[in-house]
Amino acid sequence: MAGPQMTGQRVIVVGAGPAGVRAAEALVAAGLRPLVIDEGRRDGGQIYRRQPEGFTRGYQALYGTEAVRARAAHETFDALKESIDYWPETLVWNVSEGQVWTHRDGIADAVPYAALIVCAGATDRLLPVKGWNLAGCYSLGGAQIALKAQACAIGRKVAFLGTGPLLYLVASQYLKAGANVAAVLDTAPLSARIAALPKLAAQPDLLWTGAKLTLALKRAGVPVLSGVTPIAIEGSPETGVSAVRVRTASGSERAFECDAMGMGWHLRPETQIADLARCAFGFDAKTGHWLPECDEDGRASAPQVYLAGDGARILGARCAEVTGELAAMAALADLGRAIDTDRRRALLSAKAGYRRFADGLAQAFPWRGDLARAVSDDTVVCRCENVTAGTLRASVTVGGATEANRAKAYSRVGMGRCQGRYCGAAGAEIVAEARGCSLEAAGRLRGQAPVKPIGLSTRRAGA
Ligand SMILES: Cc1cc2nc3c(=O)[nH]c(=O)nc-3n(C[C@H](O)[C@H](O)[C@H](O)COP(=O)(O)OP(=O)(O)OC[C@H]3O[C@@H](n4cnc5c(N)ncnc54)[C@H](O)[C@@H]3O)c2cc1C
Repeated sequence: MAGPQMTGQRVIVVGAGPAGVRAAEALVAAGLRPLVIDEGRRDGGQIYRRQPEGFTRGYQALYGTEAVRARAAHETFDALKESIDYWPETLVWNVSEGQVWTHRDGIADAVPYAALIVCAGATDRLLPVKGWNLAGCYSLGGAQIALKAQACAIGRKVAFLGTGPLLYLVASQYLKAGANVAAVLDTAPLSARIAALPKLAAQPDLLWTGAKLTLALKRAGVPVLSGVTPIAIEGSPETGVSAVRVRTASGSERAFECDAMGMGWHLRPETQIADLARCAFGFDAKTGHWLPECDEDGRASAPQVYLAGDGARILGARCAEVTGELAAMAALADLGRAIDTDRRRALLSAKAGYRRFADGLAQAFPWRGDLARAVSDDTVVCRCENVTAGTLRASVTVGGATEANRAKAYSRVGMGRCQGRYCGAAGAEIVAEARGCSLEAAGRLRGQAPVKPIGLSTRRAGA
């Protein structure tokens, strides 16, 4: 059969994290030479982010309990380099008519694909808190990247606010690195974690790792509070953050002095590439995410497009390796190649276990859309464009916007540098509240090219 591979087109993998590495490995094992594109300087993705050349910290220091897996992913990718084409520091900023648009060093190029495997990962899911636009407020991911990639902390005394495993992980990493951790403030009630235990038991070692992190923080004397309601991050535009104030589960008010904040409410999938490739999306009521639709193997609704890793659904790093390989197998099957059906079955079964664990995490650390809906009118929602909740609400109540995209056009929430990647989730909650409709009815911000900023001076390759 004359598949697209035989017409000279490529299988393109976007992302060199755990999902992308395993996808590339499976393609190479089948005799193909895929093109792997990643905007990062080095492979590894988020969790197995490699330190810059010249830094010499060891695997154990950098990756802790995941050191063995990190080394395996890096060694696999290093061994693959002879058999793939690898474009690091290259952004995929658009997908149209069977080609991806790339950008590197001011040059844009269009590369046609026979199959496109999107392994774009996830980013922090954020909620606005009054004062979160002060200097010193970072996402949890930003705080972790500072530590992992640059070996520096975001402040001298750091408070962590939000929910999810990353909250405890990053706080413990800061503690281990010698930083002063002012407090760990979880908006999820303890009861949610207890209720989720049967599902979390699907991955007992991960459950135990999480429990040990909390214990280590408490043993070090760090205040660890569950069920808090954020009131405000205090400070001044001149000096930045000075404290975070919360209402505790018992109803009292407490303030914790700090000079930096790490914030995050679990993760959100990076779905813009799937969106630009015209994949259909569906609303996932369990997590409140809009997700690109795909079958169990990762086959999306758009032809020749496959989705894997956290960019398809937040199932964690270990499952990203599984879904990366599955997506590659789906692409290979569609290209007319034979696949190992026993292997596929084993991967699908592993995926089911990880899915149960992920359901447990969503239950244990729920997204608090109600907190976004309750923010005061003077709270900044969109930090890129400095737009307040009041302006966003007025785009609905006065302007007549009925869904997120129209509200964006009227208010500029989601119009800035981040393209709604950080404010979109909370913005949709505020639109839903102002309109008195469900989150699903408030819709989702459509992906727009370029998915991340590219220079105005960008020119077409060869021009
Ligand atoms: C900030 C952050 C920190 C995390 N820390 C931990 C942790 O410490 N421990 C843990 O267990 N889990 C952690 N997680 C979760 C974990 O990183 C993921 O489960 C796992 O990395 C998913 O693997 P992936 O291959 O799907 O995506 P990733 O590992 O995120 O890899 C995606 C890759 O795609 C590339 N990419 C994305 N978009 C484009 C584009 N448009 N063009 C080109 N390249 C692109 C990125 O540069 C990245 O290298 C973290 C997640 C985040 C977001």
